[in-house]
Amino acid sequence: MKLYGALEAGGTKMVLSRLDENGTMLERVSMPTEHPDVTLPAMMAWFREHPVAALGIGSFGPLDLNPASPAYGSITRTPKLAWVGVPLLARFREELGIPVGIDTDVNGAALAEATLGAARGLSGCLYVTVGTGVGGGLIIGGKPVHGLTHPELGHQLLRPDPRDPMPEGVCPYHKGCVEGLTAGPSLQKRWGVPAYELPRDHVAWDIEAGYLAQLCHNALMAFSPEKIILGGGVMQQDFLFPMIREKTVALLGNYLASPAVDNGLADVIVPPGLGVNSGVMGAWLLALEAAGQPFPAA
Ligand code: ADP
Ligand code: ZN
Repeated sequence: MKLYGALEAGGTKMVLSRLDENGTMLERVSMPTEHPDVTLPAMMAWFREHPVAALGIGSFGPLDLNPASPAYGSITRTPKLAWVGVPLLARFREELGIPVGIDTDVNGAALAEATLGAARGLSGCLYVTVGTGVGGGLIIGGKPVHGLTHPELGHQLLRPDPRDPMPEGVCPYHKGCVEGLTAGPSLQKRWGVPAYELPRDHVAWDIEAGYLAQLCHNALMAFSPEKIILGGGVMQQDFLFPMIREKTVALLGNYLASPAVDNGLADVIVPPGLGVNSGVMGAWLLALEAAGQPFPAA
């Protein structure tokens, strides 16, 4: 039986797994994201001890995902400056001598949800994580979307809520973008307590749901996804789902004609079908793809 590697490369931690050809996880280890001179050799060592036929990487980014670029599979820009320019794909491919596939962490998660999870059997979906940052992965026609670079749905600009005491948000690149307004660190900075300590009836959540509803409205208008899957730490507050659905329906203003809208978007704006495993299963699928293996049938 062939074994496949999955690397969930995050700015805080690296999670390395080995799975079999059915997607059953055999081993898993997590290590902090330190300097690449430390963390890259540690990851290589783990995969040498746990050999795999191919590796899939779902990584933080932005990444260079243009196959024609000499820097294909490199990290292009990150506040973790030591990782800027690190050629993740090339390093693993050369040092392990195996096929390696790479995409953004959220495109990987979206691919897993479209293949095995909440959007199984559909042609596409949007996967958004609201955690330390906000990232969006987009599948259209069964394929993760890439273009000029890759979609960055977390940096769309939003209309400020008049009740928001910090309407410019905390993103160092943009004023009033989704990530700067809705990610965990933004909630903490705005309200002075960690997001998970904010009581349910705090106005913070009404504002949060309104911003995420703007994201959903924009996504429905831009890509018409059949599912918008919302994951990440902040979405553990699952009372947000009905609030976001209701506010999205209100923003749509009766414009979109679809039974799904008449149904209050209950089947459209949903949590991940794979729970916390979307990321690892996405990386596993990227490994299968790199090895030229077909995806499991939906
Ligand atoms: P990451 O984005 O780093 O992969 P998470 O998705 O767990 O990790 O997101 C971490 C962020 O989510 C933190 O800012 C944290 O405050 C927030 N968070 C984690 N758990 C909860 C929770 N139960 N309720 C609200 N916010 C949470
Ligand atoms: Zn931004």
